Amino acid sequence: MCHMSFSRRIDFILQINDEIWSNPEIRFVEYRAHDLLTKVLEDQGFKVTRRYILPTGFRAEFSPENGKFASMGPNICFISEYDALPGVGHACGHNLIAESGIAMALLTKDIMTMHPERYPGKITVIGSPAEEGGGGKIIMIDAFDDVDVAMMLHASNKGILHAETLCSSRIFANYSSARLGDTFHFFNTFDSMGPGSESDAVVAAYNNIVSLRSQIPQQWRIGVVIKEVDDKLGLEITYRTMHGMDMGPFRARIVSCLEAGATATNCQLAWRFTDPYVEMWPNLVLGNIFAGYLHDKGKRASCMGIEEDLERETCAPDWQSSLSADALFTYGLDKGYNTLVSTDMGNVSQKVPAIHPMYYINTPISLHHADFAKQVGSPGQGFLESVCLSLEI
Ligand SMILES: [Zn+2]
Repeated sequence: MCHMSFSRRIDFILQINDEIWSNPEIRFVEYRAHDLLTKVLEDQGFKVTRRYILPTGFRAEFSPENGKFASMGPNICFISEYDALPGVGHACGHNLIAESGIAMALLTKDIMTMHPERYPGKITVIGSPAEEGGGGKIIMIDAFDDVDVAMMLHASNKGILHAETLCSSRIFANYSSARLGDTFHFFNTFDSMGPGSESDAVVAAYNNIVSLRSQIPQQWRIGVVIKEVDDKLGLEITYRTMHGMDMGPFRARIVSCLEAGATATNCQLAWRFTDPYVEMWPNLVLGNIFAGYLHDKGKRASCMGIEEDLERETCAPDWQSSLSADALFTYGLDKGYNTLVSTDMGNVSQKVPAIHPMYYINTPISLHHADFAKQVGSPGQGFLESVCLSLEI
């Protein structure tokens, strides 16, 4: 049944993918993708709310027979992302996330429509913009209030069922010189720059933060660039930890570095930070069901490619015994995958049961590299077939 749905829809779904890939739009201005996806879902019988919470966000819902069975089963949420990266197009492959979200929703719709008594409930598709640096799902977190489970698929150069992801946030800081007449100014008249130099403050803070790098746990990360912040010379700092509870203490240490720069140069510091992306709490039950469906289908590996070092990893207990080198996903938890990935899907996963499998596409190139964008422009049919198989009942 599912294969019928699949073959009927393959061209149509690939077209959506091509359209989004060929017209990359960055965070918060994904208007074209928004319009395309909402039209597709509306045409397919979903009740669509355009410009939902964000101008390029949307919500689409479906339950067969006018919702007669909606309250008798789960509200299953599929997520589509569709933002590109500045300058490198779809180097994170979010065109494929858009595609897979729609594909999963349409195929599930077919199944529910054919057997509403057997598979009651509701499908919700959330179109979530601005994953790249905008925290779209954090802004839209209330969208998941009535959702029972949420799923999103991400393409990668590694197949990981439950990838570790890091928490991530940014601090924006800048400095202003102290006002003339400041007491300190009297003692500093030899300095033609006057009291407190913003550039000195920035350099001092930069060096402090670089020094901080050697004082933090190995899994934490920090990056700093000097740039204009709110029309003044300043710094943008990205900091990451394994666990959300560490973000506050880490931020406090960074702010101390910034304050030291202000103190040393008699400048005034201004700073703000973005809401953190938090780490994924993958739902292992959901993950096992997902992986189990794939694992039961012999053709999957040839569809999606083979990750060579899969056998070194562990996997979910109930399909571990039959894991072979052609498995699609590894079980990435606690195995030191050493990821640099952060996702606002982590925030969703801490609200509702969720999974975010990373599926392997046939490339060694990592996410956010310009060449990754080329790889995701020609996805082939392997991924879609596997999605289809995973939904086959
Ligand atoms: Zn991504």
